[in-house]
Amino acid sequence: MSEVLDLFVIGGGINGCGIARDAAGRGYSVGLAEMNDFASGTSSGATKLIHGGLRYLEHYEFRLVREALMEREVLWAMAPHVIWPLRFVLPYQKGGVRPAWLIRLGLFLYDHLGGRKLLPATKTLDLKKDEAGKALKPIFGRAFEYSDGWVDDARMVVLNARDAANRGARIFNRAKVVSARRDGGIWNVTLRHAETGETSSIQARMLVNAAGPWVDQVLNGVMGKNNAHNVRLVQGSHIIVRKKFNHSRAYFFQNPDNRIFFAIPYEGEFTLIGTTDRDYKEDPKDVRISAEEITYLCNAASEYFAEPVRPSDIVWSYSAVRPLFDDGASKAQEATRDYVLKIEGEGTDAPLLNVFGGKLTTYRRLAEHALEKIGEKIGLKGPAWTAGSRLPGADFPVDGYEAQVRQLRSRFPFLEKIHAERLVRCYGTDAGNIVGLAGVPADLGRHFGGSLYECEVRWLIEKEWARTAEDVLWRRTKQGLFLTPEQVADLEAYMIKKCGRLH
Ligand SMILES: Cc1cc2nc3c(=O)[nH]c(=O)nc-3n(C[C@H](O)[C@H](O)[C@H](O)COP(=O)(O)OP(=O)(O)OC[C@H]3O[C@@H](n4cnc5c(N)ncnc54)[C@H](O)[C@@H]3O)c2cc1C
Repeated sequence: MSEVLDLFVIGGGINGCGIARDAAGRGYSVGLAEMNDFASGTSSGATKLIHGGLRYLEHYEFRLVREALMEREVLWAMAPHVIWPLRFVLPYQKGGVRPAWLIRLGLFLYDHLGGRKLLPATKTLDLKKDEAGKALKPIFGRAFEYSDGWVDDARMVVLNARDAANRGARIFNRAKVVSARRDGGIWNVTLRHAETGETSSIQARMLVNAAGPWVDQVLNGVMGKNNAHNVRLVQGSHIIVRKKFNHSRAYFFQNPDNRIFFAIPYEGEFTLIGTTDRDYKEDPKDVRISAEEITYLCNAASEYFAEPVRPSDIVWSYSAVRPLFDDGASKAQEATRDYVLKIEGEGTDAPLLNVFGGKLTTYRRLAEHALEKIGEKIGLKGPAWTAGSRLPGADFPVDGYEAQVRQLRSRFPFLEKIHAERLVRCYGTDAGNIVGLAGVPADLGRHFGGSLYECEVRWLIEKEWARTAEDVLWRRTKQGLFLTPEQVADLEAYMIKKCGRLH
């Protein structure tokens, strides 16, 4: 390729895709490479909260908390299909981990630091009367209830990638950046494509290293530095069990070790419990939940729920690694959750922007800050534009989800409610395009199990870069929770037939 792009982004997690989208929308020519699948790194392994981070107030991270609180409603409006408000029940008891006055003060700040226009304020609950008390041990008499948001993290990433591509970005999924070298004031980047086994090269005026937990590996391995060390890798794991309660609110629990964890309604039939916090030294691709983490989460949740949570109740688990900026904090849970952007390259050197840390919640602001730095280095183009924008499928009001489901069902009356609801949650107004011209259930194509039909899988291959059963079952959807091993094998065979094997 002879053209020199303005910008090339390494990493298809939320930060890389968010930066590529923002840059493409401002008129920069942009490329992005993801070595595995979009969101296959940390960005599908989060607790999935769009939150200010109540806990970070204890660490005086006011800048981060305020920015994140402000972002909650901005992101909700930007993607009301994959993001929605969630109420959190925070039970407390006399002599508990934190006194009630401290929690009340934290929640007062949380409600008033900024940005809350639609989300309801904090209130107190009598757990003897409220439905939320039924699932808990009777020692919990009172609770606070406050607002934050929920996000389908992996879908938010792929929607950013799609929007970037719609705005002209060249998006390469399954393309590993194996080398990046400065040459005459530009970057020469070499990609290895897992779909073909071939390599290609691309040139860019500026490079963004948004490789998340691999950010130091990219600096050392891909760019040939010696011993770059900027991030502290902190593992966090989650377990999924059959649902422990019958309402739509989540729980915020405190553990005697001062840590907090959540129990969240998940995919209709399940409860998601997490997370843990422990330093991680291995390759991020090998991260798995440990037996010790399973015991920790089961024991911690059993302190609250009337019915204990046992390891044998676990139907699925996942683990990811936080790429936290290494600020020298002694405990993993105390390391800053804020992001740091660092430019390298003086004079005529082609510039490099390294992204360290960050949260799903602040990715849009992180991208705006990155674009300020990029503009300083290679020249400003369009102004900031993503606040008030919409991701693909999001062209409906924040309170319009029910109406979207009703419309979809009136267009396709044979769709079961649960199926229509899931399609609208995943694809918003694109749900109708997926079901397409189907007049009867048979037109949906092959049934793979759960509520997964061929028309959706075809959409995911054609529009969302899905190539393997895992992409479909665990990132573009969470239908993996509902398919039997035989059904998974059938889908794997189908994907290989349609997309070939990866190299
Ligand atoms: C347990 C846990 C819970 C969390 N909970 C929340 C939460 O509730 N709310 C919240 O806001 N945030 C949360 N976070 C934080 C959030 O998930 C992360 O900050 C965010 O996902 C990081 O995104 P990223 O794009 O920087 O990294 P990643 O998602 O890891 O993306 C980096 C990508 O770069 C790719 N890559 C690496 N090297 C190369 C290469 N050489 N060539 C091409 N591609 C490459 C990788 O494959 C990867 O996909 C949580 C994180 C963890 C671990």
